[in-house]
Amino acid sequence: MTTKKLYIKTYGCQMNVYDSARMADVLAPLGYAATEVPEQADLILLNTCHIREKASEKVFSEVGRLRPLKQAAEAAGRRLVIAVAGCVAQAEGEEIQRRAPAVDIVLGPQTYHRLPELVRRAEGGERGRGLVDTDFPVESKFDFLPEETGGQGPAAFLSVQEGCDKFCSFCVVPYTRGAESSRPAAQVLDEARRLVAAGAVEITLLGQNVNAYHGEAPATAAGAPSSWGLARLIAALAEIEGLERIRYTTSHPRDMDDELIAAHRDVPALMPYLHLPVQAGSDRVLAAMNRKHSADDYRRLVERLRAARPDLALSGDFIVGFPGERDQDFAQTLRLVSDVGYAQAYSFKYSTRPGTPAAAVEEQVPDPVKAERLAMLQQLLGAQQLAFNQASVGRRLPVLLERAGKHAGQLAGRSPYMQSVTLEAPPRLLGRIAEVEILEAHPNSVRGRVAAIEPEPVRVDSAARGCAAASAA
Ligand code: SAM
Ligand code: SF4
Repeated sequence: MTTKKLYIKTYGCQMNVYDSARMADVLAPLGYAATEVPEQADLILLNTCHIREKASEKVFSEVGRLRPLKQAAEAAGRRLVIAVAGCVAQAEGEEIQRRAPAVDIVLGPQTYHRLPELVRRAEGGERGRGLVDTDFPVESKFDFLPEETGGQGPAAFLSVQEGCDKFCSFCVVPYTRGAESSRPAAQVLDEARRLVAAGAVEITLLGQNVNAYHGEAPATAAGAPSSWGLARLIAALAEIEGLERIRYTTSHPRDMDDELIAAHRDVPALMPYLHLPVQAGSDRVLAAMNRKHSADDYRRLVERLRAARPDLALSGDFIVGFPGERDQDFAQTLRLVSDVGYAQAYSFKYSTRPGTPAAAVEEQVPDPVKAERLAMLQQLLGAQQLAFNQASVGRRLPVLLERAGKHAGQLAGRSPYMQSVTLEAPPRLLGRIAEVEILEAHPNSVRGRVAAIEPEPVRVDSAARGCAAASAA
């Protein structure tokens, strides 16, 4: 089979990063191999994000930049197929082809198992509406995807849950990703074993509301529960030999149940880091956002989590300038941040998303006010992050060495608390966990030196496991 070149550009969240990898897997049987050079590509795939206006507008500018490439390919007598996938594709559908005729394929996040069929048709010269697929099919795409080709490296992502039924009044996710659904536990465990056999030491479980996970339980004795929550899934994953670290993101405060809190105390592989967005510190704003909890509910939850795991590092998301947010509401956000103390956090200006309830509220906050509030919040969060990083100076932390650093001779990795750590180390240590003495703190990272190397984890080769199972059968 001739090798064709696939160039993927991913926008937005980690779930999109995961989806892009799976779309590459699904296209491999058609002869597509990845390229980093769009000029060489036979297929360009933009995997898009619709969460904020800026994110979605970027897609149209990118398509504009790709148009000359398509024309050049045509002039040279070859076909360049352009596909727009992900949440902008879901939200805009056919409108994308209308606004950007260079786009051949439009594909929502729930149908990428159908991508090969669409690509074949586009390669055959088909154009137009027939190549727009924004269904929410009854079948799960995960039942149709080929096994992943590995290659995610030491720190891998694994989607376990998708969609959302919470309908926060500012958010497009329930409309673009669809209703909440969870993958069966056995499917997740199989994928995790394959990732570990391919070199993963850490797995981050992904979901828009990952802690709402309620996947079908593996077939067990009568009387066992028919579904597993996230805590049960994490306990089973922790049994996989060679899987040293487990994380999960993103969590909703209302889905943080007792079992999951206890898992932070009881499961050593579960890293002491939690991304737990609260969005705002004012009860009035939280109610208008439809978050269904108060700021004090969140404070109490954090207390319980820290009682279970005293060194838990917290992260969060914040929105400033939500419609109707007044100075006194914003002051309560600052107070909540001061009370909780974050190791890091993400903060955004409210962005109007068409079709969401908050978009229709008349009392929108002017942009300069949003900008001023964002700067104040980011100053506070930045100071907290720096203080957190400074507090680790002098400590020895286990760091998973994930990738080459920016400078020659450097590697980079993550501490248990998700801090980005850089250090001098030889490339042969990639994928290993090193005990690192932290020497210096920066606003967004720390620098350290290798103090000791942990023994290499035991790996069970999935192919060998498969053979053993087959011969036992
Ligand atoms: N499910 C998670 C939760 O409820 O906490 C959040 C997932 S959402 C994909 C990621 C973040 O994007 C949200 O936590 C929120 O802070 C931000 N976000 C979502 N809609 C937004 C909007 N319209 N304007 C600004 N930020 C937004
Ligand atoms: Fe969006 Fe998260 Fe709210 Fe769901 S829970 S609507 S994903 S912000």
